[in-house]
Amino acid sequence: MMTITYPVKNGIYVNMTNRCPCACTFCLRNNGDSIYGSDPLWLDREPSVEEICDSIDSWDLTKYNEIVFCGYGEPTERLDDLLKVAAHVKSESDIKIRINTNGLSDLIWKERTAPKLSGLIDTVSVSLNTDNKEDYFKTVRPKFGIDSYDAMLQFTKDCVKYVPNVIMTVVDVVTSPEEQERCREICESIGAKLRVRPFES
Ligand code: SF4
Repeated sequence: MMTITYPVKNGIYVNMTNRCPCACTFCLRNNGDSIYGSDPLWLDREPSVEEICDSIDSWDLTKYNEIVFCGYGEPTERLDDLLKVAAHVKSESDIKIRINTNGLSDLIWKERTAPKLSGLIDTVSVSLNTDNKEDYFKTVRPKFGIDSYDAMLQFTKDCVKYVPNVIMTVVDVVTSPEEQERCREICESIGAKLRVRPFES
């Protein structure tokens, strides 16, 4: 059984793809084969736009605050499909829509992608992870190389123009207070807000 949507607190989370251009050292996908086989978030195949819309429509959205594109994978790997689903949701509900992303959409698509989010996405949450490109490259291990950090920051800066709420996240415990402060300065310089997320083992 594959899980396309699932509730987390006040949100409905959407799991569209397991593809990702990164190999973060902390990724849940690295937890070993035993998890993949039995984990319902590991997709046997990618669901179609219609299947995703049907799955979202099966929930009573009046009971939730947010639709969140997340999952075991990078949702912007399917950006056009994601936006079709978002348009469908917007056509029948005023629920807020968020994307949790690694921020590398421009590198995946080889174009500036933030303008496409305009009017469809209410919140973008980008994983900042660290305050410098070298540590980012070591931890996130993006296939696009060392300059991925700069592209992620540029994407986030662009998002500020097109999306009402832009957040960057770092994980508590694995970043020092000093590093978090420098991350806060980076966020402020591009117009985003920093959120320090609790460590989840
Ligand atoms: S960006 Fe997300 S899905 Fe991709 S490897 Fe990192 S934690 Fe995993």
